[in-house]
Amino acid sequence: MNLVTFDDVKQAIRERKLAVDLDILQLAYELAKEAHEGQLRSTGEPYIHHPLATAKTLAEWRLDQPTIIAGILHDVPEDTNVSLEEIHRLFGAEVAKLVQGVTKLGRLKYRGLERYSENLRKMFVAMADDVRTVFIKFADRLHNLSTLQALPMVKQQRIATETLEIYAAIADRLGMGEIKDQLEDLAFKALRPEEYQQMEQLLAEQAPKLEQKLLAFQLSLKSLLKENNVSFLELYGRHKHNYSVWKKLTVKGKQLTQIHDLIALRVIVPSVEDCYQTLAVVHRQWTPVPGRAKDYIARPKDNGYQSLHTAVFDNDGTVVEIQIRTSEMHEQAEYGIAAHWHYKEKGAKRADNKHTAWLQEIAELQKRLTDDDLLTAAKLELFKNRIFALTPHGDVIDLPDGATIIDFAYHVHTDIG
Ligand code: MN
Repeated sequence: MNLVTFDDVKQAIRERKLAVDLDILQLAYELAKEAHEGQLRSTGEPYIHHPLATAKTLAEWRLDQPTIIAGILHDVPEDTNVSLEEIHRLFGAEVAKLVQGVTKLGRLKYRGLERYSENLRKMFVAMADDVRTVFIKFADRLHNLSTLQALPMVKQQRIATETLEIYAAIADRLGMGEIKDQLEDLAFKALRPEEYQQMEQLLAEQAPKLEQKLLAFQLSLKSLLKENNVSFLELYGRHKHNYSVWKKLTVKGKQLTQIHDLIALRVIVPSVEDCYQTLAVVHRQWTPVPGRAKDYIARPKDNGYQSLHTAVFDNDGTVVEIQIRTSEMHEQAEYGIAAHWHYKEKGAKRADNKHTAWLQEIAELQKRLTDDDLLTAAKLELFKNRIFALTPHGDVIDLPDGATIIDFAYHVHTDIG
């Protein structure tokens, strides 16, 4: 296990040229280090490596200074004798509010169903208030998952289940695809270690053959794009994650041979125009699989995801999946709502309207619903585009595709709707 140091955090910040005052960062580090002095993680390391790992992840997501500082300080008020007031005095209201938000999310003593809905409710309130709190929580959770094996089995299972049910689902809804995949795979590994290993093995067996095949395809596409004067930045194979392969095999009952995107080809191009030109080149050369071309640029997914997708028959009759997008769409697909901090001008704290509207909708609704309603509403809303949820509560309500949380509210109580 690599222990993250303060230098690693600074390096992550420098590499990405983030506008972070390193003196203030240093101050935060020293405060956290002193406050956590003598504390150990369950894995035996000094505690400070955990908040540092959290801060490094936040820097990798290119978040802003208050978020990274709050990442370093996130466990200080709860676990040490340095108070929130002290943090406020030293680092200002914004950092203090973020730390407080994370602390509130962590302080949950409920069990079972009650704990679950209370947790969800707190996540929703935090998201609607300042979604950066939830980013810190994701980074915190990713590190906790990576050191999970040091905890008792019961606790491991609880954290992993909660990660799948709540964190990964929310990351998905916020369009944070890369973060969702990481959360899911780590949780899957803890919950079903044998199946996880099976998937590892299966993918390792398939990968060399698929990679070779894709490489040949990639080379022909590259020269075709050059011939047609279509600009492109990058072409590479993207491996499907263990958990999503396992889900397709078990929940959807697919055969391995029916999963065509174990490795999909990803094409990154400079402009939207180049996306469509690339697609045209692909379809002129290879026969498209009927019904598989999707234009998520003209019609983005609910979570803001944009790309062109298609699947074509390769010369040997096998299917190749292709995703075409600009760099900006790519960053949006990986980091979702978090990518906005990178693209927006300094000072702007609100994400785009679509996300904000959804967050507000959920914040409003959660005030009016009972825990039971909230639980079902959240499941419905969060898992609308998912195959299944490992939730303790089994009600299924049949709503048309594209139904919103408001439709659901009408369904439960017409007065709420
Ligand atoms: Mn923590």
